[in-house]
Amino acid sequence: MTGKGTATAGMKQRDLKTMRVAVISMHSSPLGELGTRDTGGMSVYIRELSRHLGAAGYEIDIYTRRRGPERAAVERPSEGVRVIHLDAGEDGSGSPCDLHRQVPAFLESIERHRRERDLDYDLVHSHYWLSGLAGQALSRRWKVPHVVMFHTLGALKDRALGTAREPEMRVRAERHLAVCCDRVFTATAGEREELIRDSGAASRSVRVVPCGVDLERFRLLDRRAARSGLGLAPELPLVLFVGRFDPIKGIERFLEAVARLKTQAAFHVALVGGEGGSGGSAGVYGKLCADLAIQDRVVFCGRMPQEALPRYYAAADVLVVPSYYESFGLVALEALACGTPVVATPVGAMKALIADGVNGFLTRDNRSESLAEALLKGLHWRGTRQANPASIRETVLAYEWRAIAKAVCAEYRKLLRDWAARAEAHAGRWPAGLCLECRRMLHVAE
Ligand code: UDP
Repeated sequence: MTGKGTATAGMKQRDLKTMRVAVISMHSSPLGELGTRDTGGMSVYIRELSRHLGAAGYEIDIYTRRRGPERAAVERPSEGVRVIHLDAGEDGSGSPCDLHRQVPAFLESIERHRRERDLDYDLVHSHYWLSGLAGQALSRRWKVPHVVMFHTLGALKDRALGTAREPEMRVRAERHLAVCCDRVFTATAGEREELIRDSGAASRSVRVVPCGVDLERFRLLDRRAARSGLGLAPELPLVLFVGRFDPIKGIERFLEAVARLKTQAAFHVALVGGEGGSGGSAGVYGKLCADLAIQDRVVFCGRMPQEALPRYYAAADVLVVPSYYESFGLVALEALACGTPVVATPVGAMKALIADGVNGFLTRDNRSESLAEALLKGLHWRGTRQANPASIRETVLAYEWRAIAKAVCAEYRKLLRDWAARAEAHAGRWPAGLCLECRRMLHVAE
């Protein structure tokens, strides 16, 4: 990965079958523990996409902020992939506002690392708005195209929760980057439309690339064996939740739905994720269970490494996704790949993934009445012959990561071709540097 020059010059010498991509993931490492506040679907996305691009011959450097001295400066989690941990500013609280102040230091660390090793990239792909700001500055400096994936959008999150909790800078940055970067990837068509409407981004530059699933890890397992492995009685139905314990996930609505069904159906509930490892701290939701008098039905399992999850999905009769908003919703794909039906609110990819009575049920909304009604349907349907695990798994075979990585490669190639054509048309006077609004948001004078 050496030999500095502009990407356009580099591209002329090589075909576009493989590329060198700088992936920016400032606030969450793709190697971090999953299920915490900051590490969920986005980390899985970066890890899996990079793994498959690396296997296809791409060279992927993932730049992230060093979280502690225990990690090596550079790790190589899979073929062709390096995770580069860089120091950037004070550790601070890790809040988005703190991190925003550190973006300039972070991007300078990346630039220093690149320069010292004479690295050269064809493209920058950044994840989340903070990395998007860093990525935009780097791409303009390196004169290569920039793809951003926001993963969640602050404006949509606020709208779904009916609050204004997201930092104003986040909403502003997402709107602006959508317009000034070279491509935005969204995980669903719905999010694409919302983003175009909200930001005024050109429709040709916002592309839908769904998330994927590891079909080898998430596979059909024997339900009885999975249950006895988890110490569960074979007969009693189990409803499972897996995810970060974030208000956006609607966990309180789910628990209220469980309380509504107390006298109508006998089932247990397991929640995987949240603070604390195995054994889990129930925190505020534990108190809610006590208030709702459902504590004897509910087990908080804590965060689990992803390798442990197939057993949970296989043991469950239904996975529930009670969210107010999802950018995609990987846990639904994972459960379906394990042959487990999903009861979900109509958010993220759920409308595209789930068909009533085929692989689960969609609720009308995430009011506890609607969730309770759909849960009851799901539990009943699970007991019928139509709810066949192999058929449920079939519904997500198209989402295999290799296919998703192929779609990403096709998007990268198209972008590089467009970029080269524009550069040629502007005879080297393109792209201009960083725009004024980006400079303002970065507090840098470029
Ligand atoms: N996950 C995990 N262990 C946990 C909780 C979650 O490995 O204890 C993983 C889960 O397998 C999924 C991801 O975290 O791949 C969550 O992604 P999703 O898109 O469902 O939610 P997000 O975190 O993006 O809101």
